[in-house]
Amino acid sequence: MLKILQISVTAYAQNCRLIYNDETNEGCVVDPGGKAQIIADYAKEHNICIKSILLTHGHLDHIGGVSELIKLTCANVYGPCIEDKSLIDNIKEQSSLLGLNDAESFEFESVYDGQKIKVFDDFEVEVLKTPGHTPGGVCYLCRKYNFILTGDTLFKGSIGRTDFPGGNYNALMDSIQNKLLNLDDEITVLSGHGESSTIGFERLHNPFFN
Ligand SMILES: [Zn+2]
Ligand SMILES: [Zn+2]
Repeated sequence: MLKILQISVTAYAQNCRLIYNDETNEGCVVDPGGKAQIIADYAKEHNICIKSILLTHGHLDHIGGVSELIKLTCANVYGPCIEDKSLIDNIKEQSSLLGLNDAESFEFESVYDGQKIKVFDDFEVEVLKTPGHTPGGVCYLCRKYNFILTGDTLFKGSIGRTDFPGGNYNALMDSIQNKLLNLDDEITVLSGHGESSTIGFERLHNPFFN
């Protein structure tokens, strides 16, 4: 069975997630902004092998724990799109600006729109490129288990900020309306901050589209 453990990381209460299969004990971590040691310890205790790290975009609250987690698990890193490389390369600058942990940059495999990634055993995601919050931001859609990881693109009742460098309001609205809101109503929205939602709920109630 697929399990999703949500862990709040950084002062920004970012929703990092450990997604794993409790029968095969393979898993991945989505947006480890921090608490790498805690995540690695949990995985070890539960015999979970962390195969990969998935990143929705290059902001520090989503990537701050990546370099440490790579060292602890040997996981390979997927995402975001290449346009966010400068954010990842400048991670130390982001750290000092936000006063968060002193993170290191890392190598990652950039992803592209429509790409299908076999993350571990039967867990596959499809990349939806959703620029706007950052230029290279993505969402990861898992059709088999009916959920989408939206990072800071779409939240319950809200949308991502576009006032950071590289942010673009029109691009964000276009991403959400043309890539996310035409997905099936019952797909669960797992966002980078705040509560979970569904595509149907957001289409009806999100004030940015109504
Ligand atoms: Zn962000
Ligand atoms: Zn965030």
